[in-house]
Amino acid sequence: MDTKRITVTSPLLPDLKEFHSLLQEIWESKWITNNGQFHKQLEKELSAYLKVPYISLFTNGTLPLITALQALHITGEVITTPYSFVATTHSLWWNGIKPVFVDVDPLTGNLDPEKIEAAITPRTTAIMPVHVYGNPCDIQRIQEIADKYGLRVIYDAAHAFGVESLNPNPSPTEEGTWSSILTAGDMSTLSFHATKVYNTIEGGALVMHDEQTKKRIDYLKNFGFAGETEVVAPGINSKMDEMRAAYGLLNLRQVDAAIEARRQVAIKYREALKDVSGIRFMNDIPGVKHNYSYFPIFIDETAYGMTRDELYFKMKSQNILGRRYFYPLISTFATYRGLDSARPENLPNAHKLADSVICLPMHHELSEEDVERILSFIVK
Ligand SMILES: *Cc1c(COP(=O)(O)O)cnc(C)c1O
Repeated sequence: MDTKRITVTSPLLPDLKEFHSLLQEIWESKWITNNGQFHKQLEKELSAYLKVPYISLFTNGTLPLITALQALHITGEVITTPYSFVATTHSLWWNGIKPVFVDVDPLTGNLDPEKIEAAITPRTTAIMPVHVYGNPCDIQRIQEIADKYGLRVIYDAAHAFGVESLNPNPSPTEEGTWSSILTAGDMSTLSFHATKVYNTIEGGALVMHDEQTKKRIDYLKNFGFAGETEVVAPGINSKMDEMRAAYGLLNLRQVDAAIEARRQVAIKYREALKDVSGIRFMNDIPGVKHNYSYFPIFIDETAYGMTRDELYFKMKSQNILGRRYFYPLISTFATYRGLDSARPENLPNAHKLADSVICLPMHHELSEEDVERILSFIVK
């Protein structure tokens, strides 16, 4: 029996020799953290690659969420989604903010903008949506609502590394210009965790619109230090070190090839699954440049003839490790389930997605045989 283990993801690793030579430089410079040369260079290269005006590196993808809320002085209540990784809601909790869960779109899993207004109270100060699986939220509609009520918008864009959208109204001189979805809202956060499309082992970033905000964020991630003896705010320590910045520079050179390899896997999955009744998957959205970070399928147990968990454990028994992202919903965890907005009746679409999803293995090293083996347990 073929028992090679297939994991849901596999980290993109830089060439060890190249990494070693950058480590050599770090050793020689004796500058190992605190805005060193590789940190500066990675910020510069990422801002060009991602097409964003300003970016600040972090030591993981959770601290930029916490820091963005601090920087914007967000208090009271924040409208957010239960269909995400727990860090989204935890960042609110760590700031003493009450999360208010709003249901998601039944197809995309992104916050449903039409349900936001009903959840706004006099205490609401911001909206924190997530571009789930890297599919862009309805950015325009969310901004309209935010503007109408004077709310801030902080996107958890942990899944949206490199995702771009085609300018819907190009001027006569520019045809089809692509722009980053990371410039939506007031700020967007990224995660460079080992499991993500682009990783620095652990790492993350915050994307902002102006130099002043970047400066403030850079103070906040370094205890609030604005100079040798001046502390301008109660900051935290969430800086990225030189080793991981150097590793990140090397990974940036190969991330396009990794995304293309993922795209090829997505093509094979879609081709094989398109006629399987009871399985829904997500297609590319016209006008969006995707990153193929995840490949979720949603099981309709009646039509498919097997429950999600039956399929999940059947795959697992064959050493094929999908993941039930996002199950259970954040709103069901002990910390949050007592909230009024966490009631299951308030979140029917999110519950339906959480109860039917499996993310299939998706990474740059899946071979044709791997994909065939995975599909052989799903396609009947
Ligand atoms: C991965 C992830 C995070 C947290 O990132 P870390 O780098 O692991 O701290 C936050 N939000 C979402 C949606 C994520 O998937």
